[in-house]
Amino acid sequence: MSKVIIIGAGGVGNVVAHKCAQNTEVFSEVVLASRTENRVRAVAADVKADTGRQIGIATVDADNVPATVALLQKERPDVLINVALPYQDLPLMDACLHAGVHYVDTANYEPPNLAKFEYSWQWAYRERFERAGLTALLGSGFDPGVTNVFCAHAQKHLFDEIEFIDIMDANAGEHGHPFATNFNPEINIREITQRGRYWERGEGGEGEGGGVGGAGVWRETDPLSVRRDYDYPEIGPKASYLMYHEELESLAQNIRGLKRIRFFMTFSDNYLTHLRVLQNVGMTRIDPVKFQGNEIVPIQFLKALLPDPASLGARTKGKTCIGCDITGVKDGKRKRVFIYNVCDHQKCFSEVKSQAISYTTGVPAMIGGAMVATGKWRRPGVWNMEQCDPDPFMELLGKSGLPWKVIELEPTAAAE
Ligand code: NDP
Repeated sequence: MSKVIIIGAGGVGNVVAHKCAQNTEVFSEVVLASRTENRVRAVAADVKADTGRQIGIATVDADNVPATVALLQKERPDVLINVALPYQDLPLMDACLHAGVHYVDTANYEPPNLAKFEYSWQWAYRERFERAGLTALLGSGFDPGVTNVFCAHAQKHLFDEIEFIDIMDANAGEHGHPFATNFNPEINIREITQRGRYWERGEGGEGEGGGVGGAGVWRETDPLSVRRDYDYPEIGPKASYLMYHEELESLAQNIRGLKRIRFFMTFSDNYLTHLRVLQNVGMTRIDPVKFQGNEIVPIQFLKALLPDPASLGARTKGKTCIGCDITGVKDGKRKRVFIYNVCDHQKCFSEVKSQAISYTTGVPAMIGGAMVATGKWRRPGVWNMEQCDPDPFMELLGKSGLPWKVIELEPTAAAE
């Protein structure tokens, strides 16, 4: 039996708190800590009403390492699940090292003043976690997270060699607002306004991310300029756009024989039009600008105007479908599969008062915490999800509200 501390009481934190409280086999004690007391209290009251369990609460500014260390020394949890913002990843890893607590998160570190998505900062902690005998599990949400585990499952059970992976992320939910993001607007908009990038095996060996079988190159595209219409199970065809996403970096290194890996996400024309206008007028800028004698960061001001993602649950209808379209070779024959989960926004709301994006992130965060807490994935060092055995994670995924399916597709269309 283990004690878990969750940092961050936003949309995802609410789901993690519910799911940890539901998992009485693993988590004997659950504590939720965040910056704003009202939010922590509100989530704890909901968890009590929904599960009957009283969870502990605390307030902390996770950017303040000594304050977090003091909290961890007082609470003495076995594992910390970080579902605050990516800016808090490094301070929370430092605090875990000081206090001797295992660490789990769902998004890679980003410096606040630079929208850059890479694991280098967190991978630099490998030796420190090894020496401390502690596990840090990176990216235990849905994507990254479950998508990495789907790839590990395919590598272990479905293919002799994997050649192509396309991670496909569709949200067919309707919330009725003209424009809103499904998770933290600042983090979300920083991500999707980046240039597109995908990895492929390169002849010359230039670039980073070389897989086990050889070096590769990153190819860049203009933001959201590559479109593909993809037929998602239970949702149907949807316009999907090539983007950079952080799991590409680790999967390019850890999947044997890989020739190419890309990531696509669906956006409606309405969403793209709003985004284009906001970009054109400078509202997505992340650098401070002077306004009436004060400095403001436009994207943070925009966040204050947009609907809080945690408020979308009650009004969002429809489904998400996220999965991995994988082509490779099995027993000498070409094979293509789609491994995926479909999640219904309203079912999530009836269970934990959240929409499916928070739900599909929060459930795997709880499972990552459980994998580390039970010792199934406990190994000193810093790990990405596909470096761990997919079987116990996939088993718990189905039982915890995110059942998955594998369907066979026609192999020829995969390498388009
Ligand atoms: P929210 O903005 O809804 O919640 C973030 C929470 O973190 C808020 O409660 C906020 O507190 C708290 N917080 C922020 N800064 C601090 C701090 N310095 N100290 C303590 N608490 C702090 O975000 P989401 O719940 O939507 O997202 C949470 C995380 O999940 C993000 O890192 C996001 O990138 C990740 N994510 C991952 C996905 C995946 O599939 N891997 C998908 C979606 C999200 P306050 O209320 O005081 O502002």
